[in-house]
Amino acid sequence: MEFADLGLSPDTLRAVTDAGYLTPTPIQAQAIPVVLMGRDVLGVAQTGTGKTAAFTVPMIDILADGRSKARMPRSLIIAPTRELAAQIAENFIKYGKYHPLSMALLIGGGSFTDQEKALDRGVDVLIATPGRLLDLYERGRILLNDAKILVIDEADRMLDMGFIPDVERIVSLLPKMRQTLFFSATMDKEIRRLADQFLMNPKEIAVTPAASAATTI
Ligand code: AMP
Repeated sequence: MEFADLGLSPDTLRAVTDAGYLTPTPIQAQAIPVVLMGRDVLGVAQTGTGKTAAFTVPMIDILADGRSKARMPRSLIIAPTRELAAQIAENFIKYGKYHPLSMALLIGGGSFTDQEKALDRGVDVLIATPGRLLDLYERGRILLNDAKILVIDEADRMLDMGFIPDVERIVSLLPKMRQTLFFSATMDKEIRRLADQFLMNPKEIAVTPAASAATTI
């Protein structure tokens, strides 16, 4: 399987090639075509499997058409930690280098003024930790009714960190008609309950951790 077989645009393929990737990892090969079709995904994959590119790369092509309005992000990615959120942002910069997409990163510790300014300009991709996102929502700085793609990354860590009530609140603010991509390293009962609540007829993709992914890379 080659990146060129997955249905990506020439510009996105070029950015992936520039990143030095020769072949897609198993989660990328399985998820990218499904995401491009607009379907929900339930991905069971750990860090190191290439899961971040599995959602960021196709999102760039989906978001390439259309324009953002002030304070109304077109897509939302929630991640449990600042570090993970920042890594996802780096992925968008790397793979989105040939697309003029705008992005904002809302994480604790960053300046409120800068984050509010970015939101006011309108963003295609909003990447946030749950607490900071709700904080800005309560201040009336964000509307989520135009966010038609939602990614929940590392759901199991959100659970461990006690963020699930915040995540449920955030999801309730998004439109019901949306595409949802949900990733977790594990799939226990509580995670399965959340997946059932947030996803519609998802394609389930489970890949084994690093070792087998590494041999494929
Ligand atoms: P992730 O699992 O998303 O944290 O990615 C783990 C690492 O694999 C990151 O450093 C990526 O840059 C790298 N990576 C992602 N996709 C590929 C690929 N198709 N080929 C080689 N490396 C990759």
